[in-house]
Amino acid sequence: MYQEYAWKKYVDQKDEQINAFADSYKEFISKGKTERLCVSLGVELCKKAGFKDIKDCKQLNPGDKVYAVNRHKNLAAFVIGDEPLTEGLAILGAHIDSPRMDLKQNPLYENETFSYLDTHYYGGIIKYQWVTIPLALYGVIVKKDGTTVSISIGDQPNDPVVGITDLLIHLSGEKLQKTAAKVIEGEGLDLLIGSIPLTDEEKDPTKKAILKLLKEKYDIEEEDFVSAEIEVVPAGPARDFGLDRSMIAGYGHDDRVCAYTSLRALVDTPKCKKTTCAVLVDKEEVGSIGATGASSMWFENVVAELISLTDDYNDLKLRKALTNSFMLSSDVSAGFDPLYPSVMERKNSAFIGKGICFNKYTGSRGKSGCNDAQPEFIAKLRRIMDQEEICYQTSELGRVDQGGGGTIAYILANYNMNVIDAGVPVLSMHSPMEIVSKVDVYEAYLAYKAFLKNI
Ligand code: MN
Ligand code: MN
Repeated sequence: MYQEYAWKKYVDQKDEQINAFADSYKEFISKGKTERLCVSLGVELCKKAGFKDIKDCKQLNPGDKVYAVNRHKNLAAFVIGDEPLTEGLAILGAHIDSPRMDLKQNPLYENETFSYLDTHYYGGIIKYQWVTIPLALYGVIVKKDGTTVSISIGDQPNDPVVGITDLLIHLSGEKLQKTAAKVIEGEGLDLLIGSIPLTDEEKDPTKKAILKLLKEKYDIEEEDFVSAEIEVVPAGPARDFGLDRSMIAGYGHDDRVCAYTSLRALVDTPKCKKTTCAVLVDKEEVGSIGATGASSMWFENVVAELISLTDDYNDLKLRKALTNSFMLSSDVSAGFDPLYPSVMERKNSAFIGKGICFNKYTGSRGKSGCNDAQPEFIAKLRRIMDQEEICYQTSELGRVDQGGGGTIAYILANYNMNVIDAGVPVLSMHSPMEIVSKVDVYEAYLAYKAFLKNI
């Protein structure tokens, strides 16, 4: 069902399943505001479905279900298929990092009896969207003795929130002459976190009061921020959006909407011919680099381990397994926004409500940096989508010459496997309140299941 409005498929009130799925997804992103939290929620989901930690496995047979975790920030789950791994895997890959602000290593300072935390933004954000909204703090502080303190402030009903102030309109005449890129600058993204000074302290009394509070509540010193990883994210849960409740507003749809639908598809799909996999990676928003990004050796190593647990391992088997694999690089697409039609080319745009979106290529300035999927692979996917009556569409990221972007697709394609981008269209991407359609979330879930079963 190519380029059709997916709600039409559900006119006869079959939408309870869409809403039930949307509710479980809303819970996932409301709780999973960091990579670490997404991984622990993912592990919970896997364990409930009978998946075992790969570390506890001595041998694996068709039908066995396993998961592997890397540094609290990557999760890969597998259902061993009937075919040997050398025939390739069916892989769903998504990222669980989202644009935000991170605390700097020396974040805390005082200015005019206000206490602030200094931040460094992560990924592409339009900075003016992040001021004057309630923000939450999530993450870990690892102390010198190796103990980890978890931080979660701003999402419980009685929690305080923090935030970034902005200048009042009455005095903004000069500021409003600046370009939008400059009106709020990176070093201006400082969080206001306190205003009560400690009595009898002459120097930095408010900062000292905050340090006292942190000591009492978490038993941490100022220097412990040096080995902390604290993310500043929008406070509040994901919610139904629109009078008809057709959409979901929330933080982190990019790309937790594809991560959740991919993982659910994997968990909810019984043993297939191929070994099936959902892999959730970190650092996509900053170039997929590092130990927990898609470029890391980690995923390759896990597949090597799978081979050694199902077969006699050798290097050629690993290479064959990767080369013969098929992958959906599950990442969000830019939804067509009728308020901004000029940056899109309408007949090659993704529309909210038309189902999962395939991107043959992404890239910018003439497809630069893109993975350009093979037409043979796309034809096969069209067959599967039509056979399973799934609403799907295709798009590119905006008009040629307008800008662009990339995903993890090209990285896995370096193994010479078949990879294409496929995901849910999003409005207001990278903003604190991204919007997706419930029906697209559900169609993506169905599409991922169809892919695992039929590829
Ligand atoms: Mn993304
Ligand atoms: Mn992104």
